[in-house]
Amino acid sequence: MQDKLNLMIPGPTPVPENVLSCMSKHPIGHRSGDFQKIVQRTTEQLKWLHQTTSDVLTITGSGTAAMEAGIVNTLSKGDRVICGDNGKFGERWIKVAKAYGLDVQVVKAVWGEPLDPNQFKRILEEDTNKTIKAVILTHSETSTGVINDLKAINNEVKNHEKAITIADCVTSLGACNIPMDEWGIDVIASGSQKGYMIPPGLSFVAMSKKAWEANEQSNLPKFYLDLKQYLKAANNNSNPYTPAINLYFALEASLTMMQKEGLNNIFNRHTRHQKATQEGIKAMGLNLFTNESFGSPAITAVKPENVDAENIRKTIKSDFDILLAGGQDHLKGKIFRIGHLGFVNDRDIISVISALESTLSKMGKLNTPIGQGIAKTIAVLNKE
Ligand SMILES: *Cc1c(COP(=O)(O)O)cnc(C)c1O
Repeated sequence: MQDKLNLMIPGPTPVPENVLSCMSKHPIGHRSGDFQKIVQRTTEQLKWLHQTTSDVLTITGSGTAAMEAGIVNTLSKGDRVICGDNGKFGERWIKVAKAYGLDVQVVKAVWGEPLDPNQFKRILEEDTNKTIKAVILTHSETSTGVINDLKAINNEVKNHEKAITIADCVTSLGACNIPMDEWGIDVIASGSQKGYMIPPGLSFVAMSKKAWEANEQSNLPKFYLDLKQYLKAANNNSNPYTPAINLYFALEASLTMMQKEGLNNIFNRHTRHQKATQEGIKAMGLNLFTNESFGSPAITAVKPENVDAENIRKTIKSDFDILLAGGQDHLKGKIFRIGHLGFVNDRDIISVISALESTLSKMGKLNTPIGQGIAKTIAVLNKE
C-alpha cells in the first residue's frame, strides 16, 4: 500500500510529521539573522543532548563525514591508534584510519560479541612510552546489535592520560545515556538519520578540550572537514559553507521535541522497547543473535533457525509494509535486524512482533502457539 511503509531499520529512522512539515518551505539565506538564530538554538540543544559544555559542530554530510572529521582533526600521519572492531562499523573506522596513513592496531571481537575492555587496558598499560594517540571505537555496533562498554574502555584511555577516545555514537546517541563530560569522552560522532529523528544529511562532531589540544598538533590533510572553520563559524552562529538549511529547520524541531520528552524518558523508552522486542522474540521461539546483556538499545538482531532470514524480512515487507534490516557480509540470510531507534512508540513494537509471528505462522515455521510472542511483548509494555 502506498505511503504506509514503516521504517524499522537502524537508519534512516521515521520522521515525525511536524519535523517533516518544517522542511517544506523555501530555504532562507544561510547568512541571515533568522538562520543565525537557528544555529544558536540548535548548538545549545546539541550540547544538551551530548550532556556537554564542549563544542558540538554540525556538518552537512552523512555520519561517516563526522567519523572522518574526528580522525583528521585530532591525529597526524603515522600516529599509532587502537581501533575496536566487532562489526561492519568497526571495520569502517579501520578503513578511515588506514586511508589517512595511521598506524592501526586492531582489537577484535567476533561479530555478536562486545569488545573486551581488558584488552584495551592491557595494550594501554603496556604503552609506557605513551605512543598511542587515540582509541577509536563504535559504541552501538549497528551491524550486530551489540553495545560496547564505552564507559569502561574510555576509563582505560583516561588512565593512559595521553590518548584520546574517538567514538562513533551514531546509533547510541539519543538512545542511551552518554554523558560526554562526566565520562570524559573526547570526540563523539553522530548522524541525523538515527536517534535525531530527521532525514539523512547532517552529522555532528563533539570535541572536548583535550581533542582541541590534539587538534593543535594534527597534520592530516583537511579542508571541507576542517573543524576549526566550523568552530570559528559557530562562534558567530554560522556555518563555514552552505549547510543543508532545511535540515536545520528539522533539527530544531526534533531537538525541541526531544527536550520536551526529556533525556531520561527518551532513554527509558528505548530500553523498554528493546526489552519488549527481545522478550517477544524469545517467547515465539526465535533466537536473539546477541546476548541480551549487551544488546543495543537501538537495534535487536534475530537469528532464526531453519528459516532464511531474508525470506522473513521480505515477507514482512510485502505483507505488512514494515522494513527490517538484513544481515551484512557473512550474516546475510542468517540474521535480520529490528530497528527501534528514534521516533518509535508502543504501536510500532506491537505491530512488528505481531507481523513477525504472523509471518512465521504463514511460512509454517512458528514452533510456538500463535500469540505467545505478542502476549509477552504486551506484558512487558504493560508492566514497565
Ligand atoms: C548509520 C551509521 C553510521 C553512519 O553511516 P552514514 O551512512 O555515513 O550516515 C556510522 N556508524 C554507525 C554505527 C551507524 O549505524
